[in-house]
Amino acid sequence: MVKPLCVVLAATLALLFPQSLLAFDEQPHALVPMVDVGLDPGHSYSDVGAAGGGLREFEVTLPIAMRVKELLEESGLSVSLSRDDHCPLTDFSEPDPTDRVRVEQEARIAAVGNARVFVSIHLNGFGDHRVRGAETYYNRDNHGKESEELATSIHRHLLSGVREATGYWLPDRGVKDDLWAGKPYGHFFSLRGDMPSVLVEAMFLSNPQEAALMGLEETREAVARGIAEGIMEYFAQ
Ligand SMILES: [Zn+2]
Repeated sequence: MVKPLCVVLAATLALLFPQSLLAFDEQPHALVPMVDVGLDPGHSYSDVGAAGGGLREFEVTLPIAMRVKELLEESGLSVSLSRDDHCPLTDFSEPDPTDRVRVEQEARIAAVGNARVFVSIHLNGFGDHRVRGAETYYNRDNHGKESEELATSIHRHLLSGVREATGYWLPDRGVKDDLWAGKPYGHFFSLRGDMPSVLVEAMFLSNPQEAALMGLEETREAVARGIAEGIMEYFAQ
């Protein structure tokens, strides 16, 4: 769990900005109260994710998640983030790559504490750079009905929000059962926490047009608003 670079960074920031100490205060998870929404900005500098147009997934998902948090809090929902800097939660030391992902995703689920729902925010990547659009995953074997409802609501608002705010007709790749992705280990590890869980892939960084759009504040705001509005609608049902 020791993250030398991050620890040094935290100590330096704490010296420069004593008020930032709070951000690095590690509370035992058992003491974290129930929150409405656990938000997981996908990836970290140890696990960069997709890349394109000069952007790396982990650097884009964090500001989007922080903006979703703000919007949800403005609407009265309580929110916790799995990370608020670019550091991973685990040391990625397992020899097996699948174990590395599993351990990190389990840590992220634990990090949001006792949440009513879990939403992991990602950007997609694919070898064929023409592929673009939004897709949203859920695990039918984990609070399946609620997870699918949450996924459907987020997906619909993400599509309409981006289309209306940016004029870009974000293609609809669908709300998908995560087994469709064909991972050798089955369900996504991030969708295995004991709560309705969704993983949203807002756009493809491997597509030059979508990568260029994600470089714009306007697009990131529209993505964040779409995700937040989808979550709000789920809770209003
Ligand atoms: Zn990702």
